[in-house]
Amino acid sequence: MTETISKPRTAEAEGAASSATGGDLLVLAPLRFEARAVRRGLREPASRVVRVGMGAAKAARLSAAGRVVEKKQPASFGAMIVMGTAAGVAPDLKPGDLVVATEVTDGTSVVELPGADLLAAELRRAGLRARAGKMATVPFLVKPSQRSKLAAEGYLAADMETAALLSAADGRPVAVIRAVSDSGLGPGMITGGIAALRSLRKAAPIAERWAAACAQRTVLLAGPRSFCAGVERAIEIVERALELRGAPVYVRKQIVHNTRVVADLEQRGAVFVDELDEVPDGATVVFSAHGVSPAVRDTASGRGLSVIDATCPLVSKVHAEARRFAREGYTVALIGHAGHEEVEGTLGEAPESTVLVEHAADVATLQPRDESKVAYLMQTTLAVDEAADVAAALRERFPQMRAPGSDDICYATTNRQVAVRAVAEDADLVLVAGSKNSSNSVRLVERSERAGTPAYLIDGATDIELSWLSGVSVVGLTAGASAPPAVVSEIIAALSGLGTVTVTERITTTESVQFGLPREVRR
Ligand code: SF4
Repeated sequence: MTETISKPRTAEAEGAASSATGGDLLVLAPLRFEARAVRRGLREPASRVVRVGMGAAKAARLSAAGRVVEKKQPASFGAMIVMGTAAGVAPDLKPGDLVVATEVTDGTSVVELPGADLLAAELRRAGLRARAGKMATVPFLVKPSQRSKLAAEGYLAADMETAALLSAADGRPVAVIRAVSDSGLGPGMITGGIAALRSLRKAAPIAERWAAACAQRTVLLAGPRSFCAGVERAIEIVERALELRGAPVYVRKQIVHNTRVVADLEQRGAVFVDELDEVPDGATVVFSAHGVSPAVRDTASGRGLSVIDATCPLVSKVHAEARRFAREGYTVALIGHAGHEEVEGTLGEAPESTVLVEHAADVATLQPRDESKVAYLMQTTLAVDEAADVAAALRERFPQMRAPGSDDICYATTNRQVAVRAVAEDADLVLVAGSKNSSNSVRLVERSERAGTPAYLIDGATDIELSWLSGVSVVGLTAGASAPPAVVSEIIAALSGLGTVTVTERITTTESVQFGLPREVRR
């Protein structure tokens, strides 16, 4: 599947946009002092600032028919930013705060600017107070009554030129950074103006960084990616528990390792706790997809808690194997990462018979009760190659070693690793959507790096640092098994704000695994 996300542009703009660099930045600033503040902050000699004058009429005359390019800016440009001051209409904005427009309207039409969140995040990383949101272009200075009306409609700030200037970009990447000079008429207007100009100067080098990241790109989308059957089931269990039993529903540990999923469920009434002593007597508690040890189950039952178990059936399978091997007198070498919730749960099944093996080097120090009775198991979310190396080291020392009945590393982990490798080989950079505590997502980053392609783990588009994208024309994109599919769409939309994006999906296998729900939440 291939899809292109772009804006219409002239042939001249097409050529410039495909080779945008920091030197190709054109800044449009309405007033002399705004243009001067931006110029003082710029570092690249080829960046240009054009003063366009105050008000929509002047702006429209200048941007019409490419006059910004032809008359004021003889050199071509690859990306354009409108920078200036604005009236803050959102009540919590302060003078000097920066607003990056997600959309701009003049009341008759709306222009959307999809990369705004990414630019606002970069400004924040540079230590500036910046927010992405809607902006309005109005014909006159905003009156107090108009401010509250615009604020109620969700606008952050208003100015008098931006809507008329955006067409000057002619399909090239375009952004808007406005610094709040005032949030109402009053004695603070002068100091507010100074704060705004200072912020514009500081924002100028970030604008250049944004322009350097602008380019036409291909996004190679790995398939499969994102939610697995175990994660979908765990989330559905919490949703149904909330629906059937009402909030609050307590969840021991994160239901799955993803900050977005957890924040969303929290908003709907789920309460995440680290241990059962934080759950009130008689309450409903959900055990996470990573599973729990028998000691945790015993505590819950002793306390009379109403338990709904969201442990992934593939994790439960490893628990059952641990119990079986221990019962048969085997020492179980559990290949996994110390401290991971899944590993703690599995170790708890037979603590006296199970020993954790993290690396092949750990094998030499293993002291089983009987060298002829050793078995191994694996955490479900390991790197396939590395886990195989540890298993090989174990087999070399204990040739009679028993293996699990079927692979412990689950289908979703394996499939996502194969898929990310297929895109990493042809990408300049790989972005992995997932949270830092998500084991299978971290493995995807490592898998890309082993294929020789730099990779970054991001919770969402705002974690993308612009410097990563400089000189990058092919971005590999995937998501860990606990990361929502919507994050992938959000990342593609953000990248499309930096230039035309052609999305090509590379599917290495398809998945049809589904797990049933526990009886407590069946309808
Ligand atoms: S990653 Fe594998 S083990 Fe973990 S929840 Fe998904 S299917 Fe289950």
